[in-house]
This record gives sequence, structure tokens and C-alpha cells, in this order.
Amino acid sequence: MTVHPFPAPMLQVDKLSLEYADAHRVVRATHRVSFDVHEADRFVLLGPSGCGKSTLLKAVAGFIAPREGQIRLDGQAVAGPGPDRGVVFQEFDQLAPWKTVRQNVVFGLRSARKLGAAQARERADEVLDQVGLLAFADAYPHTLSGGMKQRVAIARALAMQPRILLMDEPFAALDALTRQRMQAQLLALWEQVRFTLLFVTHSIEEALVVGSRVLLLSPHPGQVRAELNAHAFDADSTGSAAFQQTSQRIHQLLFEHQQVDAPIRRRAGQPGAAP
Ligand code: ADP
Ligand code: MG
Repeated sequence: MTVHPFPAPMLQVDKLSLEYADAHRVVRATHRVSFDVHEADRFVLLGPSGCGKSTLLKAVAGFIAPREGQIRLDGQAVAGPGPDRGVVFQEFDQLAPWKTVRQNVVFGLRSARKLGAAQARERADEVLDQVGLLAFADAYPHTLSGGMKQRVAIARALAMQPRILLMDEPFAALDALTRQRMQAQLLALWEQVRFTLLFVTHSIEEALVVGSRVLLLSPHPGQVRAELNAHAFDADSTGSAAFQQTSQRIHQLLFEHQQVDAPIRRRAGQPGAAP
């Protein structure tokens, strides 16, 4: 009998190439990207604009089919969207404007998880409480700030108890102070719920604060450049010397050796891995 010292990764992305094609040309968004996400990881995809981060997330969500390679969730190939993956986007308009905050959260629970009205309402209020918005359950989205709308979107996704929460630059459109507060709140929520997170950003600082592991992607087409461990950092570490050094190092890895053909691969825990 084979004894596996670690459980199999929850999400396995294997040599994934993604393309957009129309009648005239093919755009390769990512080239043979591989990574594994384990239960309760806060896994961050970090790279410059246009390197294929959103495309990768959409492929994991099941909105885009691989050109080559494979995505497996709990060992099963991803073949389309499903309630086992909750998605939060950057845009503030992802909530239904004609529904209250609570109704927005209840809607998915009723249709996808087939909960009864009372159960769905109870579950909705539980997650709204976790994101600190229970007092706004009867408010309509247009009366909320951008940060509050994003918290509703997070609550709505978490209410479904997905296997993995996918977030695409969810705080990028917020002002700097709100953004920092949202990062800290997301970490506090993770401490409480221990969900598994796949989070996309182009901000080095955000990646280090939010992530436990960070995958660096090269510019277009996105290829894996390195993987770093970011367990040591949280919302309070941004001023520290170690944080600044790691940021510098990521900056160099991302922008100073742009050899598209030969991506550097450094796995956490190996020589050369940071921090
Ligand atoms: P990122 O999220 O890292 O900024 P994207 O995943 O949005 O990058 O895009 C990756 C590449 O794919 C870019 O070159 C972009 O122009 C291209 N792209 C994105 N969406 C489409 C689309 N719908 N049709 C054609 N090309 C696209
Ligand atoms: Mg994007």
C-alpha cells in the first residue's frame, strides 16, 4: 500500500495553455501554466496586466476551456461552471440592483443549493454577519459604498460553501485606505472560516499581504516564473524590512529577466525560494 504523506491538492492546474481565437487570429493568454492549490491555501496569481490572470481564473471557474493541459478540482476535470467554485470580480456592479443585500445572497442559495426560504435566509444572515453587514441586509446595493458591495459579493460567494473561492482583483477599484482595510478583513474572515482562496492581483504588496503562497507570472503570454511562500506576511507587515526585501525581489523576478522561453521555476522550500 502506498502511503501519501500529504493529501492530494484540491486544485491541480497542469500545463494549462489558454487562447482566444477569432476568424483572424489567435491570442495565447497563458502558456503551460502549472500550479497546485491545497485546502485552506490563500493562493495568489501575481503578474502584470495582460499576463492572463483573469483568463486563468475564468478557466478554473469553468467559463473558458483549456487549449491544452488540464484543470482538476478534487481529482475531477473541470468541464464548466459549478457551485463548488464561488467567484468575486473587480466590478462593483456584480450584485443585482433590484434585490436587497439579503436577497442577493439568498438568490444563489435557493437556486443552486436548493435551500428552503427560511434556511436560505438564516444562512444569508450568518455570512452577512461574518462580513459585518448584517445591519445592511435590507439595503439596496446602490446605497452601499464600493467596499461594502464587495463584502456582499464575498458573502454571497461564501454562502454557497464553495470548495474554492475565486477572486479577480476584487479590491482594485477601491481607494488605497479602503483597499487595505478590505485586505485585513479578508484575512480575518479567512481566520474564522478557513476557506480555500485563489486570488488574482497585479499588486505585489497585495499579493504578499493576502497570499500564503504566490505564483509569479511573466508578461504576456503568462508563464510561471517562480513560486514564493508568503505565510510570514499580513496586513501589519508592509513596513517591515523583510517585506520590502521580498517585494524588491519579486519586482526583479517579474520585470528584469524577461526571457519568455526559459521561465525560472522556484518552488517554496527549495534553495532560492523566498522569503
Ligand atoms: P490580466 O487579467 O492578467 O490582465 P487577461 O487574462 O485579461 O490578463 O488577458 C490576457 C491576454 O488575453 C491579453 O493579451 C488580453 O488582451 C487577451 N484577452 C483577454 N480577453 C480577451 C478576449 N475576450 N478576446 C481576445 N483576447 C482577449
Ligand atoms: Mg485581469
